[in-house]
Amino acid sequence: MSVNQQAHTGPPYGQPQPGYQGYQQPAYGGQPLPGVPQSQYGAYNGPMPGYQQPVPPQGYFPPLGFPSKGSPVSLNSDTSSLAPNFIGSSRAPPTSGAPPAASGASLPSGHLAYSQFGHGDVQNGIPASAAPMQRPPASQPFLPGSAPTPVSQTSTFQQYGPPPASVQQLSNHMAGMTIGSTTASAPPPAGLGYGPPTSIPPVSGSFSTTGSGLYTPYTASQGPPPTSVSQGLPLAQPPFPGQPVSTQRLPTQVPGFAPPPSSTGIGPSSYLPTTGAPRPPTMPGPPLPGQTIAGPPASQPNHVSSPPPPSTMSGPHPGPPMSGLHGPPPPTHPPQPGYQMQQNGSFGQVRGPQPNYGGAYPGTPNYGSQPGPPPPPKRLDPDSIPSPQLNELPPQQKPRHRIDPDAIPSPIQVIEDDRSNRGSEPFVTGVRGQVPPLVTTNFLVKDQGNASPRYIRCTSYNIPCTSDMAKQSQVPLAAVIKPLATLPPEETLPYLVDHGESGPVRCNRCKAYMCPFMQFIEGGRRFQCCFCSCVTEVPPHYFQHLDHTGKRVDFYDRPELSLGSYEFLATVDYCKNNKFPSPPAFIFMIDVSYNAVKSGLVRLICEELKSLLDYLPREGNMEESAIRVGFVTYNKVLHFYNVKSSLAQPQMMVVSDVADMFVPLLDGFLVNVNESRTVIASLLDQIPEMFADTRETETVFAPVIQAGLEALKAAECAGKLFIFHTSLPIAEAPGKLKNRDDKKLINTDKEKTLFQPQTSFYNNLAKDCVAQGCCVDLFLFPNQYLDVATLGVVTYQTGGSIYKYAYFQLETDQDRFLNDLRRDVQKEVGFDAVMRVRTSTGIRATDFFGAFYMSNTTDVEMAGLDCDKTITVEFKHDDKLSEDSGALLQCALLYTSCTGQRRLRIHNLSLNCCTQLADLYRNCETDTLINYLAKYAYRGVLSSPVKTVRDALINQCAQILACYRKNCASPSSAGQLILPECMKLLPVYLNCVLKSDVLQPGPEVTTDDRAYIRQLVTSMDVAETNVFFYPRLLPLTKADVDSDCLPAAIRNSEERLSKGDIYLLENGLNIFVWVGVNVQQGLIQNLFGVSSFSQISNALSTLPVLENPFSKKVRFIVDMLQVQRSRYMKLIIVKQEDKLEMLFKHFLVEDKSLSGGASYVDFLCHMHKEIRQLLS
Ligand SMILES: [Zn+2]
Repeated sequence: MSVNQQAHTGPPYGQPQPGYQGYQQPAYGGQPLPGVPQSQYGAYNGPMPGYQQPVPPQGYFPPLGFPSKGSPVSLNSDTSSLAPNFIGSSRAPPTSGAPPAASGASLPSGHLAYSQFGHGDVQNGIPASAAPMQRPPASQPFLPGSAPTPVSQTSTFQQYGPPPASVQQLSNHMAGMTIGSTTASAPPPAGLGYGPPTSIPPVSGSFSTTGSGLYTPYTASQGPPPTSVSQGLPLAQPPFPGQPVSTQRLPTQVPGFAPPPSSTGIGPSSYLPTTGAPRPPTMPGPPLPGQTIAGPPASQPNHVSSPPPPSTMSGPHPGPPMSGLHGPPPPTHPPQPGYQMQQNGSFGQVRGPQPNYGGAYPGTPNYGSQPGPPPPPKRLDPDSIPSPQLNELPPQQKPRHRIDPDAIPSPIQVIEDDRSNRGSEPFVTGVRGQVPPLVTTNFLVKDQGNASPRYIRCTSYNIPCTSDMAKQSQVPLAAVIKPLATLPPEETLPYLVDHGESGPVRCNRCKAYMCPFMQFIEGGRRFQCCFCSCVTEVPPHYFQHLDHTGKRVDFYDRPELSLGSYEFLATVDYCKNNKFPSPPAFIFMIDVSYNAVKSGLVRLICEELKSLLDYLPREGNMEESAIRVGFVTYNKVLHFYNVKSSLAQPQMMVVSDVADMFVPLLDGFLVNVNESRTVIASLLDQIPEMFADTRETETVFAPVIQAGLEALKAAECAGKLFIFHTSLPIAEAPGKLKNRDDKKLINTDKEKTLFQPQTSFYNNLAKDCVAQGCCVDLFLFPNQYLDVATLGVVTYQTGGSIYKYAYFQLETDQDRFLNDLRRDVQKEVGFDAVMRVRTSTGIRATDFFGAFYMSNTTDVEMAGLDCDKTITVEFKHDDKLSEDSGALLQCALLYTSCTGQRRLRIHNLSLNCCTQLADLYRNCETDTLINYLAKYAYRGVLSSPVKTVRDALINQCAQILACYRKNCASPSSAGQLILPECMKLLPVYLNCVLKSDVLQPGPEVTTDDRAYIRQLVTSMDVAETNVFFYPRLLPLTKADVDSDCLPAAIRNSEERLSKGDIYLLENGLNIFVWVGVNVQQGLIQNLFGVSSFSQISNALSTLPVLENPFSKKVRFIVDMLQVQRSRYMKLIIVKQEDKLEMLFKHFLVEDKSLSGGASYVDFLCHMHKEIRQLLS
């Protein structure tokens, strides 16, 4: 976890970390300290001399009582004093110098010389004509001279046989012994149910024999296809091409909220601004007496097919007031073909247009033209399943409110509307401040100058011009950035631009990289920075004439001038120690203690690695991966293996002195897979045999990481450790842990300690790992508490991934584990990464959330950054913004590719700025807002009582909604809950965050589960947090077996379930298949292959493969969902009224939860109360 996420440890922002050697801040900045090696990233980032750090933000402080962030003072630590020397030493802008005609020639051998972009577009990847890929330098991976000398260490070459724990130690002596297959001591464990790999069911997307071998999450069947509901919908177009479509987003009024008794005295005048902020001049007049605002139907406003005339669009409130809030929908409202119209996001009684609807949209004259008949029955919406058992529910689960659940905003409806309205057209990024489709909508992106929403999503695409406005709204300004996101095959990967020796063109002052928003002036001889306004000479080799519009004539030939995302090939200035990096290495480190062996895990891993090693990450048409591999096994001691290709058999070396870890061999530890194939295969065959009879139960952990780190140091490369670990490391060693689990701490002030590491040892280790580019991926197989909060520290701070398989059983868990492992090994990953986000003057990045390390206030460092990891960045004002120039973000990620190439990936995004709050509220994205709020809260629990964190969340959201009500909505009765259209799901989603296991654990949730979830969420992208907090619930029995479509999702509430149906619920980690007690026997037979409900086994971890359409369809759906997620989800069969149903009900997030979480309806009432209090 990052330093700034642990207020209890580490110094405040901007302070160099004690003991942190790798990225000394001064070195970073270019000012060498005495005794500190030269700048490792001499050329990267760093402000110019004279560049002043922005002043502290004046507004928008976190809610009181939520002291989870660094103090404002430390946030503003000024690092500019480091800048001058940084610039002076190594950052002279390339204002002159030879044109890079022979750009590639100067690269060291082994580094590909990519052609100049203008000579042919080079994508990320090797062009077909490229030189043969660099071979892994197997002949020189280690520098023996620099190797640690093991003379004082206890180590042995050991012939395997007896458990290593009982091996006699040979001090000060290393004896090499050959591990011969004839010495195998034991047959494979019997009775474990372990099958050969060939019996493993095929997995989705992995091991493709074609293509690059990289995991490809997007397949032809990928993505939520149009559901059956939306199929019948006419595909709507955005109303005004080229204009932000969100201008039509309108407020949502939630009916059914009768004015509470206390509110009777509150009249519209109470809602006049009390802060002195003027009411937006564009506000429409107050409604006529008796009228209340509901806005036009919500299913229409987002992106209707027939736009209203522009005149109604100009105000923030095109929706006219309508009266008769509780009036029934007129029966004459024409339903769309194939779609039972549900208006306002399933707003029950006001689902349809209201009588007296004044006709804001002249094009829709039928609206409200006649009074409606008596109210129709509830739940007319298609996603509502009649609920025969509703009356059988215990009293407390019956609706206690007169609020119809169908009358409150429905996530399902919002998702469906966005799919219908925005799923058919590509999202073209040429327009500033354009709100992208929702993450749940399947759409293509065309880069025309702004980064794809797959790379960056924002909480709002129109940000307040002033800090006062931002503070008033309380809407956090944040971007969720996924720099290496995987794109669907239809979209173009970022182009790789090579400027040769001179490197990328950058602003002289703020060091921003050339991008489409830079303004060329003086005939093209200079350019003005779009971030800081500084004027910089165009280097001669980069000069180009301008056309009559002032655009460079090579505009479309250069990705950095015309696209939102692209890459630069980095020069040696961007490399550690001014040396091009070696290709990275993967080290597999396997726990071989008793539990790991007995469960069959060790054998499973070894079998899998035999084939998996052929699928290490590659690029383009490389024949083989440049990544080298190494192997370690361990319990209380560590065993290193020499798998040099020249050996007939692998050799083992044991290091039993774990107090001062070293790597006992250099030559032969990290090898090329193809060259050492035979020796590696032999080793993987023998490891399970060697430890088959082990009785060693204790393990070490920190020394394992140290060993991997030392090996990478010796090899002078970055890399990744894959650690497979089973238990709390209680063996005597550095980083030894004790069991400190204590659920009694829940709901006390000490609860936060459950999320904190129990020792700072791992924080220090993490710093060393980041400095080396040593990323740690952790696969945990616990049978009891193993302290994820502590074991995960290094993984978290190095940008690694954690996977947890509690009570691992081969039969039920091997598919999930193997799929995760395959994906993890194959996925795209950058090493030794540093990310900086630059912004235009007026705002700046102030806070960061994610799996990384920070040694200063601006640079996010990650030993490894893979395609699934996101970093959420919060911005605050330090000056005014202008509506004219908008606001710009530029995210620059410097990293080493899997081929060992140093690159810069640049993402640019331009946002609008507003002086009217209504514009802010119309351009928000609630899914991204929830991503930010969840990460903010999950960090808060490290330093604050959970209750404080929950209260702060509620308070902030109430303020957001109250500000809207006060400043943007028309005055109306206090009893009306009026939500901004773009935020109408904020209450339901916020309630899901509040009810999550981290913030409100149920009795079955373990401390490790909570720490694990906390870490996972912190790196999630918006799509992942969306489905994690509001799971997807699909009625399988409604699926059309003849199409590839998913059935239409329904809302997460028990009353939506029918006893006669089968449902699937997924949240990104689990898939539940819920079977009602009255499901037809034929369906049960078809899906489970048994003849009755009672015979269904809930021990199944996969659905049986049966040859009938229903079975095929359901398995197809499960496979499709698995491919979409970054982790393989655990399948759990739940029978209605079975004890497992409690677990399932936990995910029906609109209902009251067993752990005390409020139902959606109750929470909405609560939020309404909070808002009213703020307004009164
Ligand atoms: Zn600049």
